Amino acid sequence: MKKIENKKIKVAFPHMGTIYVAWEMALKKMGVEPYIPPYTSKKTLSLGTKNSPEAICLPYKLILGNFIEAIEGGVDYVSMIASPGICRLGEYGRNIAQVLKELGYKANYIELNLYDGFLGMIDYMSRISGSKNYFKILNAIYMAVRTVFAIDELQSFLSYYRAREIHIGDSEKAFNRAINEIRKANNMKELRNALKNGLKGISSTEIDKNKDVLKVDLTGEIYIVNDEFSNQNMERELGAMGVQVRRSLTVSSFLKDAIIPKMFKKGETHLERAYRLAKPYLMRDIGGDALECVSDVLYAKERNIDGLIHVSPFTCMPEIMSQNIFPKMREDVNLPILSLIMDEQTGRAGYITRLEAFVDLMRRKKMKAKIEENKTPQKV
Ligand code: SF4
Repeated sequence: MKKIENKKIKVAFPHMGTIYVAWEMALKKMGVEPYIPPYTSKKTLSLGTKNSPEAICLPYKLILGNFIEAIEGGVDYVSMIASPGICRLGEYGRNIAQVLKELGYKANYIELNLYDGFLGMIDYMSRISGSKNYFKILNAIYMAVRTVFAIDELQSFLSYYRAREIHIGDSEKAFNRAINEIRKANNMKELRNALKNGLKGISSTEIDKNKDVLKVDLTGEIYIVNDEFSNQNMERELGAMGVQVRRSLTVSSFLKDAIIPKMFKKGETHLERAYRLAKPYLMRDIGGDALECVSDVLYAKERNIDGLIHVSPFTCMPEIMSQNIFPKMREDVNLPILSLIMDEQTGRAGYITRLEAFVDLMRRKKMKAKIEENKTPQKV
């Protein structure tokens, strides 16, 4: 891969929730101009679908759509993360680059190979910026990683307040303000302040502290879990129903497993926990996030969570496997599990009805457990 010579070039990344904030931070720190493609929309989906094989998974179509919109917006380079693993993600990059070429687009394609770890990340930053200044590169990576951690912290705060807020939408407005503050940060001090103010802003949302809130873990294929467009803003819908959602797969947990060197990690990572917990049902990594998803069921049970929602793209091979393991797990752990498959055909009305029915099921189960508990004679 030849390095990029001109530092004034514009580089675009595909969307996945708020990940663009971290990319933007890294590029700004390297002196490269970030280009944020229009946020994923029906137009993006239609551009991607029109130029993709029908049976390819939804993230591929959306990434391609993002790239087409970015190139039409004038970028020089499009870039994404790739991993030569067991599932199709390893083929995405080459396919997308080829499709863009066949469509006559001139932008170059550059990728970060996930399996190259931290050193790969340094090399990638050097190629994308044309810089060999390793201090600058390390600082850019550090700022981007801290940005991801900050946003994930804000996200879990949002989830708590969203499920209890008096005026629907207040906590999300505070969250969006916090994201804008983070985007303005130029150094660690400003980033820390933006996070502190953001947490304060969200926690000033007026809430009903005594509300009987359900707790749900959200797991599945990482792109769909973290991308509001592809999961049809599930967390907002559930929040309005009084459900606090915890994302089991976050970009922070992914970074801890894939990029951050071992000596900087504290405690057990998500993948390490997955290998430990999933063993009775799945002995090895079968690609994508299937191992993590299977283990997340057991982790949710361990913490007495009310239910688990599993989201995956239509035709996602690893998640087809995990979905086939869930029926047995449902029996063993007595935990409500809802599996939702998303694609460009997923209709909103039917999807909301399924969420409502699942919430209703969890409430009845919880109520029944309380009644049983009250019937149990108390020890004197
Ligand atoms: S994990 Fe699933 S959705 Fe993601 S690239 Fe692999 S097959 Fe596609």
